Parts: sequence; structure tokens; C-alpha cells
Amino acid sequence: MDKKAVIISDKIGIGISACCMGSPVRYNAKGWDTLSSLGREKNDFKWCPVCPECMAGLGVPRDPIHLSGGDGSKVWTGEVEVKNRKGHKVTEDVIFGAESCMETLKRAGITAFVYMDGSPSCGVYRTSMKDQKRGNPPGVFGALLLENEFFLIPAADLQSPLKWWDWRRRLLAFYWFKHRSLENKADLYSAWYVLKFLCQELNDPWARDMGRKLASLDSHVEKVFIEEFRKGIMELLRKPSTTRRITGSLWKHYSHYRKIKGKTVDGINSPEFKRNITSIAKELVLLERSAIDDEILFGTSPVLYRERHRLPSEKEGMEEGHETV
Ligand code: SF4
Repeated sequence: MDKKAVIISDKIGIGISACCMGSPVRYNAKGWDTLSSLGREKNDFKWCPVCPECMAGLGVPRDPIHLSGGDGSKVWTGEVEVKNRKGHKVTEDVIFGAESCMETLKRAGITAFVYMDGSPSCGVYRTSMKDQKRGNPPGVFGALLLENEFFLIPAADLQSPLKWWDWRRRLLAFYWFKHRSLENKADLYSAWYVLKFLCQELNDPWARDMGRKLASLDSHVEKVFIEEFRKGIMELLRKPSTTRRITGSLWKHYSHYRKIKGKTVDGINSPEFKRNITSIAKELVLLERSAIDDEILFGTSPVLYRERHRLPSEKEGMEEGHETV
């Protein structure tokens, strides 16, 4: 089995609701720079802002729109209309805008998206903000993002260091896994070796079941099982973890790190130690850095990013190498 740590040097492309990247494109000509909370880390990614309502030609400023009688997925089946505040139908325009944005993202090879919660266009899981009901989730573009199986990150979570850390590590794992060829038993085993600890943290019963299935595989693996494996892991990686599970994993893997490397990392605390989520996120980043420097796999965050110019070799794309714990 290929027991190697995974380091990505690709700049991953992420689509984003343009108003969340500071563009003043909302109906009231406002926007927020939600990426500023990422600091320099925002340069680790290639951002692709799109605004479905602007692409619909609705203009800025404009009357706010709402879904009349159902969610955005029903707009695509013709069961629901989109109307503006004056009651005018803008359904066709909004569909055009959503399709244009999707085409842009696909042309750019993008499969992750930071969305604006609460929007009848970009919203995905929740469409009420500040007690103002705005139809049902998802929005019109949100429905398209779900249908195309995007990795979906709510913009509000960028403000929390721990939530962002959780989204980022799962995104890196998702990206790596999505581009990985799975043809035979050896491919499945080596991918599982990298991702199993994270899968266990996200859904232990599912991961145990998958572990058992993998252990009983014949040398010939059916395509249907490979599909189940890929789909199951990608679905799992899209779902957030919890603070309790993350701190538990941090300690478990740190204990393993100390055993393997025989050294400690200053600043990492046990799960019982009371600290805020910002401190926990810092500890996780410390262990990620140690995993890169010491060339080991940190199972909680199994796929790591390092800029190409900082890699020891100049190889292209995803780097795999070195020792694994
Ligand atoms: S359509 Fe999307 S990107 Fe445009 S203003 Fe609304 S939430 Fe923002």
C-alpha cells in the first residue's frame, strides 16, 4: 500500500457569490468582503465571483425578488415563479442568469462555491435572514449548485476560524479525491488509507461499514462498488464536523504524532482544556504545519496545501511523498 502524506500545490478555484467578495451588487447596491477574515490565506485559492441576478440583467440597484409559492428547484420545473417587489415576473431572467453563472463556473473548472445564505438566488440551505422570510431553500442558482454536486460553503462560516478550518480541510480532501483515479482495489485502498480517519470523524458508523466492505473485497472490484465508494466519500466530505469531534481528533492524532516523532508541539492542548474556537483552530494549524515539516500524514487534515515555490521539489500539481503515521 502507498503510505504517503498528501500535499497539494494547485491553487484551487472557488466560485463565490459576488456580493460576498465585496462587490456592491445586491439589490440595494451593497456587498460584504467576507474573504477579508481569511487574511493572506485567501491567496491560496483562485476566486471566481458570479452574481446570477446581475447576469439576469436585473441591474443594481433593483427591486428585491422572491420565490412565489415554493423553492428554487421548483422554478426549474416550471412550478414556481420569481417575482420582484412590484409583483412583476422575472422568472425567465433569473433562469438565464443562473445558467450563465453555472456555465462560467464550469468553464473555469470550478466545483466549490461560497454562497450567500438567505438569497432567493444564491441561497442553498436557509433562506430567511434577520427574521425576513424569503421563500424556501434552495434559491434558483442554489438549486443548480446542488444538482451539479458542488462543494458548498456558507459565506457566514468564513468568519469563524474553526468553521473555516473545517471547510478548508474537507475541501482539500474533496478536491484531491475528486481528481483521483479509482480503477482497482489498490486505488481504493490507498485513497481509503489517506481519508479514513477524516471519514471516521465525520460519520463513524458509515466509515466502519465501508472499512468492512473494503476488507472483504475480491481482487476484481465491481464498478458499482467503486461508484458507491466515490459518491459516499464525497457526500461525507461535504458535511461539517463538530467542535467536539474536531478537538477529539486533534488530540488523538497529536498523541500519535508524539509517539511516532518523539517530540511535542508547543501550544496544543487536550480536549478537556477549556479554550475558545480561535485557539483550537490555531492548534490545528500548528499540527498541520508540523505534519508538512515532519512529512507525516495528519489524519484529521489528510490533504494539505503548500505553495508550489515552498515545496522541496518542483513537481507539478499534487505532491505525494514521505512517511505516514
Ligand atoms: S444574486 Fe447572489 S451574488 Fe448576486 S447579490 Fe444576490 S446573493 Fe449576491
